[in-house]
Amino acid sequence: MRTIEHFVDGSSFAGNSGSTQPVLNPSTGQAQAEVVLADKLDVDTVIAAAAAAQPAWAAFNPQKRIRVIMEWIQLIHANMDELARTLSLEHGKTFDDAKGDILRGVDVLEFSLGAPHQLKGEFSTGVGTGIDTFSLRQPLGVVAGITPFNFPAMIPLWKAGPALACGNAFVLKPSERDPSVPVRLAELFIEAGGPAGVFNVVHGGKDAVDALLDSDTIKAIGFVGSTPIAQYIYERCAATGKRAQCFGGAKNHAIVLPDADIEATADTLVGAAYGSAGERCMALSVVVPVGKETADRLRDALVERIPSLKVGHSLDPEADYGPLVTADARDRVRRLIGEGVEAGADLLVDGRDLDMSSQSFEGDDLAEGFFVGPSLFDNVDTSMSIYTEEIFGPVLCMVRAQTLEEATALPSEHVYGNGVAIFTQSGGAARDFFTSVNVGMVGINVPIPVPIAYYTFGGWKASGFGDLNQHGPDAFRFYTKTKTVTTRWPEAGSTGPEFSMPVMN
Ligand code: NAD
Repeated sequence: MRTIEHFVDGSSFAGNSGSTQPVLNPSTGQAQAEVVLADKLDVDTVIAAAAAAQPAWAAFNPQKRIRVIMEWIQLIHANMDELARTLSLEHGKTFDDAKGDILRGVDVLEFSLGAPHQLKGEFSTGVGTGIDTFSLRQPLGVVAGITPFNFPAMIPLWKAGPALACGNAFVLKPSERDPSVPVRLAELFIEAGGPAGVFNVVHGGKDAVDALLDSDTIKAIGFVGSTPIAQYIYERCAATGKRAQCFGGAKNHAIVLPDADIEATADTLVGAAYGSAGERCMALSVVVPVGKETADRLRDALVERIPSLKVGHSLDPEADYGPLVTADARDRVRRLIGEGVEAGADLLVDGRDLDMSSQSFEGDDLAEGFFVGPSLFDNVDTSMSIYTEEIFGPVLCMVRAQTLEEATALPSEHVYGNGVAIFTQSGGAARDFFTSVNVGMVGINVPIPVPIAYYTFGGWKASGFGDLNQHGPDAFRFYTKTKTVTTRWPEAGSTGPEFSMPVMN
């Protein structure tokens, strides 16, 4: 069986922990490879390689660094099909969706090409007699990214692009569930002319993460994953004085007003709720129609569409979505659906017993794959676990509201605050909504409002810890520290010592 190793100092590294974990194909439930898991000594080896490579990389002028990134982008495009296929086979998302995962990451590499401009400092002349002040941005040194399974290309690239463009060395600890694409991206960085040791990948679970958190050499951690781990990492970083931005889970609501085009909205909701099997941090998992008539029409439109969705092997071009990532993930989604039924919500479409036993794709038997069919609940209330918890599966919950105010209060008061959307033809209602809702990213007739690379991405409340977002201008602030220099070139000859606090007269 293939072994996926760490990638350190420009080459593969097996590590010495002796610990491995199977990497599954979620469409078949079968192991397709194993990944090595680092212990503290392995992580220390990776960090040492990064620390040795970083000063020379920082000394490259910014233009030289972005030329490497430019070439890297070309190589990613040249290898797109292979990357998307590998990603699809390890994650379970469809091939086209896997391409989207990679392309949204490349967007941030393209944005990172603006580093020479973004890293320019400020200059003020004559702040005092003969005194000028200027600021410069310097890299932090060695920084780490700890990333989730659900975007194994996009999120590593969101971290790596700006971190590297700023002159840092980068250690990526990707999800151990789909580790191949992150390694391939690091290999392509080297092929693009990146120096060995500047971009390293170390695999592992909690032991590897804790070793990164305990290292004095690592100066910043960019984390994306579930909220309990985000909070844990944020707190550990605060305790040791590390810079941290930690993004967590989500429960994204879609508000549907009576003036919305119900048929178009239903099409949009089906894609945003069930696409990628609901395993997107910006998936719409709650829909809030306003008024009974809107709710009834929307319910009927959704119930009509769901049977035509095709769930299949991730590489099946006919499939709308594929399996969940693991059997545990599938079982958890099934359990939560059961809890919704017990709590009294109306399960209009039940995807728990989707039968794939007679299905195969290109010789792969799907009977043991981790599939869940699309599921739809009506009359969900806010005390139910299907509402309070992130399900992270193909389940859409309808919570009925009577007014826009009542609807807006739901995402505003939810513990998570990642994304939210409103569907309406009223500019005034949309404006009231986006100004008042207590959520970080808002879509107006846009179901998955992932901002474009030159704006920042970040949720509020339990969806994000730390004060700078991902990509956009915040990324350059996160991956650099500002130095401020005050200069004076006095005339020859001493004026004697001064003992009072210097003030600018
Ligand atoms: P996860 O929290 O299980 O894992 C994320 C990372 O943390 C992985 O690299 C994993 O190896 C590591 N990790 C896991 N357990 C750990 C522990 N006990 N101690 C230290 N490190 C640990 O998340 P996941 O299941 O890979 O990803 C899904 C979650 O990520 C969902 O909650 C989703 O909403 C969230 N997510 C959020 C965003 C966002 O931008 N807010 C984006 C994508 C995914």
